[in-house]
Amino acid sequence: MLDFCRRNLRKGNNADKQAALVKHSVLPPLQRLSRDQHPISRKQISPNALKVLYRLKDAGFEAYLVGGCIRDLMLGLEPKDFDVATNAKPEEVRQVFRNCRLIGRRFRLAHVLFGREVIEVATFRGHHSQPDESDEGEHHLSKASEEGLILRDNVYGTIEEDAERRDFTINALYYSINHFEVLDFANGVQAIAERKIELIGDPETRYREDPVRMLRAIRFATKLNMQIAPATAEPIPQLASLLKSIPPARLFEEFLKLFMAGKAFDNFMLMKQYGILKQLLPSLHKAIAQEPEGKVFQLVSQALQDTDQRVADGKPVTPAFLFAAFLWYPVEIRSQTLQLESGLPPVDALNIAMTEVLSELQQRIALPKRFSLVTRDIWSLQNRLARSRGKRALSLLQLPKFRAGYDFLLLRAKAEGGDLQQLADWWLRFQQENETGQQQMLQQPGPAGGEHKPRRRRNYKRKRSSQPKP
Ligand code: ATP
Ligand code: MG
Repeated sequence: MLDFCRRNLRKGNNADKQAALVKHSVLPPLQRLSRDQHPISRKQISPNALKVLYRLKDAGFEAYLVGGCIRDLMLGLEPKDFDVATNAKPEEVRQVFRNCRLIGRRFRLAHVLFGREVIEVATFRGHHSQPDESDEGEHHLSKASEEGLILRDNVYGTIEEDAERRDFTINALYYSINHFEVLDFANGVQAIAERKIELIGDPETRYREDPVRMLRAIRFATKLNMQIAPATAEPIPQLASLLKSIPPARLFEEFLKLFMAGKAFDNFMLMKQYGILKQLLPSLHKAIAQEPEGKVFQLVSQALQDTDQRVADGKPVTPAFLFAAFLWYPVEIRSQTLQLESGLPPVDALNIAMTEVLSELQQRIALPKRFSLVTRDIWSLQNRLARSRGKRALSLLQLPKFRAGYDFLLLRAKAEGGDLQQLADWWLRFQQENETGQQQMLQQPGPAGGEHKPRRRRNYKRKRSSQPKP
């Protein structure tokens, strides 16, 4: 039906297009929940968000709390942040608030700043018309690629259009301060009751417009303990490759939300199941596929579960450690190949392998340098923990990065056992000993003990100077 409308729309003028699109809205009839029909009280809402709503209202605009905050409050959860949708244009919002800055190109938004709290204020988004010759006027406002990807999205519209443009039915809930009502445009309240993640509109079209919605479906399913509705889940494996068109910096942001918020393991398993892992981390996917329950999968699962545990305990987590786990075996495999093929010594082969694997990663996910340097340190230490003898072992203990490298060795030992477990046990005892005990350990033969013998250098051609660092 929508396709039919669109084909006809190409012939019409802009006003006809808008009218036809509104008439053929995919939304069900609007449900209004009065104050006694929903659990949201003003006490649960950030005072700054309420201030924004009242100020916009007093200035003659419509304003609502929308999206995740209302969904979370309906579920009895504490919202991460409060977002506002309004019919005021970004420039008009700026005139109402002194503490306001406009951001974004793809989505132009206003941020109203209250100390450390930011209330995001977005103007109602309207429909995209099909690009054709008559669209010149609004072409600078909205833009879609040939695959249907929305590149720019600054066409403003009504609240109904705004609701239709939101991703999932549970995210199209609006809270109004006029009568303290909740407006439910897409049967989101029922979906919450059924614990169902369901896209608004035709799933394939919605994923093509923005492939990140595939990641969001997974994230909300695990975060809210819900199921992805069959029609919403079904196209993901075929469309997962569209994630390649997403800028790596945006994928890193999504990566943080998926893996640093307490549901890393569950998200990873769903990403694997839906063929998303293959697109985002192809070398890891390949290494796991060779032995589905093997050491690669064990190491990564352990790292993800430890990360979730740390989040649950309120301890800090870093993406550097997770990327070290995701890509350790691809690095190890590459490093071994380099040693065999070019006769490079282990340290040089590892350096080149790390650079190669990290630059392949950057093509998909832009891991900032402050993290990738730590990832490299963790990897380099694996060699040094296995090979350092005598005084060198003592000086390793003093390195600020020793802890991360040792923790990573423990993970590998859990995944592989054997010699690695012995090495990890040795380092544990070495840390616990006093100075005399450490000296004694260094005299005895053992994984890292014994006398240091100078290593024989092999002849090899140096190739590393041409390798760029990520
Ligand atoms: P959380 O903040 O808990 O991660 P959220 O639903 O609030 O969840 P945000 O990224 O803060 O997620 O987005 C706020 C709202 O904006 C969403 O609830 C949804 O209505 C809309 N939205 C966000 N991203 C998209 C998208 N890619 N496509 C369509 N609508 C989106
Ligand atoms: Mg939010």
